[in-house]
Amino acid sequence: MPSVHPPDTDARDLTLLYRGPLASCDYDCPYCPFAKRRDSPDQLRADRAALERFTAWAAGRARTGDTLSLLFTPWGEGLVRSWYRRALAELSRLPHVRRVAIQTNLSCRTDWLAEAELDTLALWVTYHPGQVTHDRFLTKCRELDALGVRYSVGVVGQPEHLAEARRLRAALSPGVYLWINAAEGRTYTDAEAAQWAALDPHFGYSRHAHPSAGHPCRTGESVLSVDGDGTVRRCHFVRDVLGNLYDGSYRAQLRARSCPLASCDCHIGYVHLETLPLYDLFGEGVLERVPHGWPEAVNNRLPTDHAV
Ligand code: SF4
Ligand code: SF4
Repeated sequence: MPSVHPPDTDARDLTLLYRGPLASCDYDCPYCPFAKRRDSPDQLRADRAALERFTAWAAGRARTGDTLSLLFTPWGEGLVRSWYRRALAELSRLPHVRRVAIQTNLSCRTDWLAEAELDTLALWVTYHPGQVTHDRFLTKCRELDALGVRYSVGVVGQPEHLAEARRLRAALSPGVYLWINAAEGRTYTDAEAAQWAALDPHFGYSRHAHPSAGHPCRTGESVLSVDGDGTVRRCHFVRDVLGNLYDGSYRAQLRARSCPLASCDCHIGYVHLETLPLYDLFGEGVLERVPHGWPEAVNNRLPTDHAV
């Protein structure tokens, strides 16, 4: 989201990526990038307390003039836990929250969404063939459609997922963007990439890691990563600590920065690279990965589209 710095106050337009200690998931995908564990009752209590602390902090920014865009990126599945559903619904109703979104496998029930402000809430949904049937997953998507929930759906670009991804694209409402993530460690021939790009016209951005060393990136200025203790880093990938959210020490560190790493290969990172046109491409849908104007944007392919 573009940064806004009114000249007479310290109010900021901040995008925060929150990842608490939760690390359990109701699915067991063989390609899962995260080390899964079974969270103990104590670990779940700690995750809940951390999330509630973050939510209270976010609500309190109303007093400061900050506006917030929030993306929850848990190691595991958040929406099967009542405290994530409640946090999203509550945050969505706050006037100074422009967007609140979460990455989810959509295994949760959907009735809680009726409590949310649906102009603000959005879902980044991933379909995991092998963990859920096509019909069951599609039923959940149809429930979102009926409620009027804003969401994208994605599939990891494993060869064995191609047929299921095609079937899903054909069944999804045309108004729902289907994204394809390049599978970690996999290289795609041009012919393979073209098959995935037929489903996701923006697959080219995911196909290769983006060289980022020395390139300006909005993280560390208008975009921040926050963990359960409130430790603030610029993004999930650069480990240097900028300060803490709850003692306010991060605030003095907000400034324009270039990337210290060689490359950035994850959408939640490179979408903020200023050398890529992705804020223009996604507009108000940067966090939930919904292209601006979708599906019209597909029919008038943007000249800035990345070569597949
Ligand atoms: S749904 Fe996501 S977090 Fe859960 S096992 Fe699959 S890839 Fe990992
Ligand atoms: S380009 Fe990626 S790794 Fe580098 S600072 Fe930005 S988000 Fe972090």
